[in-house]
Amino acid sequence: MPKPRYLFVGAGFSGAVLARELVTRMECEAVVIDSRPHIGGNCHTERDPTTGVMLHVYGPHIFNTSNERVWAYVQQFGVFRPFINRVKASTSRGVFSMPINLHTINQFFGKRFNPVEARAFVAGLGDQSIEEPQNFQEQALKFLGRDLYQTFFYGYTRKQWGCEPTELPASILKRLPVRFNYDDNYYNQKFQGIPEDGYTAIIARILDHPAIEVRLNTAFRRGDAEQFDHVFYTGPIDAFFDFSEGRLGYRTVNFERIDAEGDYQGNPVINYPDMEVPWTRVHEHKHFAPWETHERTVAFRETSKETAPDDVPYYPKRLAADREILLRYRAMAEAQPGVSFLGRLATYRYMDMEAVIGEALEFADAFQRTTLRSASDSEG
Ligand code: UDP
Repeated sequence: MPKPRYLFVGAGFSGAVLARELVTRMECEAVVIDSRPHIGGNCHTERDPTTGVMLHVYGPHIFNTSNERVWAYVQQFGVFRPFINRVKASTSRGVFSMPINLHTINQFFGKRFNPVEARAFVAGLGDQSIEEPQNFQEQALKFLGRDLYQTFFYGYTRKQWGCEPTELPASILKRLPVRFNYDDNYYNQKFQGIPEDGYTAIIARILDHPAIEVRLNTAFRRGDAEQFDHVFYTGPIDAFFDFSEGRLGYRTVNFERIDAEGDYQGNPVINYPDMEVPWTRVHEHKHFAPWETHERTVAFRETSKETAPDDVPYYPKRLAADREILLRYRAMAEAQPGVSFLGRLATYRYMDMEAVIGEALEFADAFQRTTLRSASDSEG
């Protein structure tokens, strides 16, 4: 019997991890296509020819997970150097530490609170009339009060998402911790790091297997599916169905490059939450690799906008109208024979790298179980 041939659409973490798992666990051949000229999706990294700095081409990616399986998995494919993301917010009232922690609170209010005092103080600022926060703004007002919300969240969120924070789900704010100690680590996860030679090198090693063929600059056409036993689609779900139900809303980001000598801003990421500043944040990429030395530096001012048809989609907006459209696409996806949809774009969810990898591994487990079961059924 010829080996089954599977098509993986998209060479980001989803497509790469699933392809690798399937060719490792079962007899099959994988073709991984990507419409872009590089693998790695939005995690793509490459060396900047002028400075030698490793660039996170689609914006900063700091690997963070508490999932032991995911952490063990990625480390098979490269060295992750310890990296703790410490973000600053530059506002008209000064420069503060993010996410909001005891240092932020004490500096912002000119206090010398201990953790217990700070907790009581911030609780007193919160709007107690909000019982169940229904959106981002209510979540912030309930737990932080107006002053902290206006300074650190309102403008940033308006600029980042292009809508009022009342239109956004409370879950977006819940991504960020508020701490009543001096821990200024941006993430709460157990394992945090950045690959020594970039994410693209990691994904290249995941894809480096004799049963995997990678084709770049190759757009997916639905007719391609006929040549394969199964298609694993990780692109935008609305594009798969030729936008028949309408376009899902995404935000995209633009980067304005700044070249400088030495150290431009003294930190990897500085957020600019004031509405008067057009950009949301500035990232200086040499600081994501503190184990390297470079004389010159390169930073990017990040601005956010609505995604036009030719833009790279970044953040799924998931407004009420989007969720309705999504339900229709989901029903169509379930009725689509021989195609599975996975990853950030195909499921239209706000997913970090670790979630994408975790789901690809679980997807491989489930696919393997079904395939084994149908093989033993046909033998029996
Ligand atoms: N956010 C904010 N001010 C900040 C940082 C974040 O208002 O200084 C809000 C913003 O709406 C953002 C959300 O908190 O979308 C989640 O932040 P996170 O850093 O997780 O966003 P990411 O860019 O990593 O997706």
